[in-house]
Amino acid sequence: MSIPKAVPSPANSKAVILANAGIHAERPITRSMDSRLRGNDGLKDAGLEVEQVIGWLSEIPDPEIPAISITDLGIVRGVRVEDNVCHITITPTYSGCPAMQVIAEAITEALRAKGVPHVVLHTQLTPAWTTDWMTASGRQKLRAYGIAPPAEQVIDISRLNPAAAISRRAPRLAIACPHCGSTHTEVTSQFGSTPCKALYKCLDCREPFDYFKCH
Ligand SMILES: [Zn+2]
Repeated sequence: MSIPKAVPSPANSKAVILANAGIHAERPITRSMDSRLRGNDGLKDAGLEVEQVIGWLSEIPDPEIPAISITDLGIVRGVRVEDNVCHITITPTYSGCPAMQVIAEAITEALRAKGVPHVVLHTQLTPAWTTDWMTASGRQKLRAYGIAPPAEQVIDISRLNPAAAISRRAPRLAIACPHCGSTHTEVTSQFGSTPCKALYKCLDCREPFDYFKCH
């Protein structure tokens, strides 16, 4: 009786690990893509491109507002690939956000489906998430969905017009109606469908709409 020698070469070990993880052998996260991707500065690790991971993450909808993705929302703060382990850093929109568990599971599941067997999620609480991190495309998608995106930073015009210095204390934000674009709008409730939104009404087209509050 001959027993085959079980002296795994590094290549064999990798095959075993992949088989155990249920990953199809044709889609391993290995250095097989190295030659094709060599010279790409965006590549943090041979075989798994950070930009590609970000692309996959950009397809994951935000559980609270499925019209925008988690990258649109700006909560993905970092993607790092090290020794075939994909590290994702997330900053919740607010501390203790109940959607974070759903988001964490969605990320792990989506990346596994793309053949990334090892995903480690990190939560970063400081600096705190701000609506300023929402991308331009995210704002556009919100508007198309009927939600007024958070107002962007108020431009300080006090130096141009001294009279405006007074209004700088309590800047009155003109929230544009996502339906007709009119800024002739008024708040009807500080809380819309979720605490992060306020309910507005357009005085021109008469349509009510949610406004994604700044913070
Ligand atoms: Zn309107």
